[in-house]
Amino acid sequence: MNYDPEKGSPRLTIRQQIIALLSREQHSALGLSMALKIREKEVYDHLSHIRRSLTSQKKKLHVKPAQCLECLHVFEDRARLTTPGKCPRCKGTHIEDPKYRVI
Ligand SMILES: [Zn+2]
Repeated sequence: MNYDPEKGSPRLTIRQQIIALLSREQHSALGLSMALKIREKEVYDHLSHIRRSLTSQKKKLHVKPAQCLECLHVFEDRARLTTPGKCPRCKGTHIEDPKYRVI
């Protein structure tokens, strides 16, 4: 754990809290935003940083890809962490959020 020396506080940072939550169970960005009382957009910023920083801790951010609930298309190769707005196959907009987990 690395604490911010500027603040000198032993409290967990938002990123450390996200890692702690995702180490216990999977969450969507919306779930994390509600649990931590931050905006969903901030969750994505933290997640992309976490994804890069975890490799040095021999952990990994696993993403259960988003899935279209209309034709069941899975967004396997999506590099971005956000939920796609629209399904490329059926043009449906009923899309299940990706879920994240730290292992
Ligand atoms: Zn679809």
